[in-house]
Amino acid sequence: MFLDGEWSLCSVRKGVGMHIAVVGSGYVGLVAGACFADLGHDVILVDNDQQKLEALKSGQVPIHENFLLELLQRHRGRGLNFTDDLQQAVRASAAIFIAVGTPPTEQGEADLSYVESVASSISGAINGYKVVVEKSTVPVYTSDWIRKIILRNAAPPDSFDVASNPEFLREGTAVTDFLYPDRIVVGADSDRSASLLREIYAPLTDGSYYRRPDAIPQPGGSRIPPPLIVTSTMSAELIKHASNAFLAMKISFINAVASICESVGANVQQVCQGIGSDSRIGPRFLNPGIGYGGSCFPKDLMAFRAVARECGYEFRLLDEVMRINEEQRHRFLRKIRSALWTLRGKRLGVLGLAFKGGTDDIRESPAVLLVQALLQEGCKIAAYDPAAAERAREILNSNIEFVSSAYEAASGADALLILTEWDEFAALDLNRLHKQLKYPIVIDGRNLYDPGAMAVQGFTYYSVGRTAATPETQPGAVSPSSRKLKKS
Ligand code: NAD
Repeated sequence: MFLDGEWSLCSVRKGVGMHIAVVGSGYVGLVAGACFADLGHDVILVDNDQQKLEALKSGQVPIHENFLLELLQRHRGRGLNFTDDLQQAVRASAAIFIAVGTPPTEQGEADLSYVESVASSISGAINGYKVVVEKSTVPVYTSDWIRKIILRNAAPPDSFDVASNPEFLREGTAVTDFLYPDRIVVGADSDRSASLLREIYAPLTDGSYYRRPDAIPQPGGSRIPPPLIVTSTMSAELIKHASNAFLAMKISFINAVASICESVGANVQQVCQGIGSDSRIGPRFLNPGIGYGGSCFPKDLMAFRAVARECGYEFRLLDEVMRINEEQRHRFLRKIRSALWTLRGKRLGVLGLAFKGGTDDIRESPAVLLVQALLQEGCKIAAYDPAAAERAREILNSNIEFVSSAYEAASGADALLILTEWDEFAALDLNRLHKQLKYPIVIDGRNLYDPGAMAVQGFTYYSVGRTAATPETQPGAVSPSSRKLKKS
């Protein structure tokens, strides 16, 4: 509920912006809400998780994301307020963004029950023209369903429009992705709803936000101002699913190429450079590794395949993308086994549990799935992640020790595994690392180091899509046995 003070603050504050409700204060909702407030809008963030609301109201930030704390401190209690009262938030707002979760059902379809429940609650609170905006990733036709649900609950047909504004932010760089997007997609079937959404994003599209001295700094490689693409709602819904499917396909493609590189002794990084410099292909998302994960790609691919099937199209390409992704993890496990021979009782240092660097999100993290498999094989694990340990602790407990540095993870280990591409893992003090390990073996699932350079430093180094390197193969390398002898 709003506190009286908060509510009157909201209603009297006449900012330059628009009154916006964002329903769902998770990854997307919280970032979108904080960024909309930074654009000058009056934002009410709604959630039905009381614990999360209390944390947000007391100034805590439930997710690890650069610049988010700064934005919340700037706007909390001013242009950004929190409530569990969805209907009051709807009554106070011109645009209502739905940003609740759309997890997969057992059949792999998107579970839209949270979206439906929000839509029916919105219905009872419509007190003037509103635009209800899908921010969550939803299958094509969801906007039709939202409209039907709102009408079914007796809202007048001309009192609202349903629009789609898919979110393309990436965890780890969510705030800058939102404020410096490659493009903004607005799916709107009426001019009125399209103009309202244009107005919301105007500070970005007219460039005025970027001229502000307090603007969140521009990340390298972004282009301003971003284009705003207006499409039909159905096209916008498809754009989001098709984008994620394409990106996942790019990852699986390069992982498949990496497997061939390993078989023939080629170097996948060189192959990536060669193909990625073709402007039609581009270098991004051509990163071989242990496969994609996270809260979006796995579920969105399954949902897209399910939608396609419902429309009468068997999207078999997506099956293959998913199969390669899973196989990539199994291949890495085999690589660990072939480096260490047997696994039972081995002590492994693990660097990284988050599904990617820069985030504490461990949903569908390939790193966590690998750690679970290694624990099942009887390994003892000391794991370090700069942000995700607390979340990982909730699901990993047996035989795993959470430590507070990469060197502590390496201490006395039979091998060190690199499973998440955190920047700090690419800048380790290799001498120190070498001294910590029982055996100087590094198995890198993210290709953070140059194999030759690692061998020169005395490591036996395995990576993805590149030949394993050992000190014996490198002239001038420090022999691991001589180091160990020196130590004793
Ligand atoms: P999340 O689980 O982090 O957050 C969802 C929030 O919605 C939770 O805080 C939950 O308590 C709240 N919620 C659920 N039902 C509610 C209700 N009836 N009323 C109020 N609040 C309610 O999810 P997320 O990662 O933010 O994802 C949200 C959507 O955005 C999903 O569809 C996802 O696919 C999509 N998306 C996610 C990302 C990402 O990187 N996480 C990127 C782009 C799009």
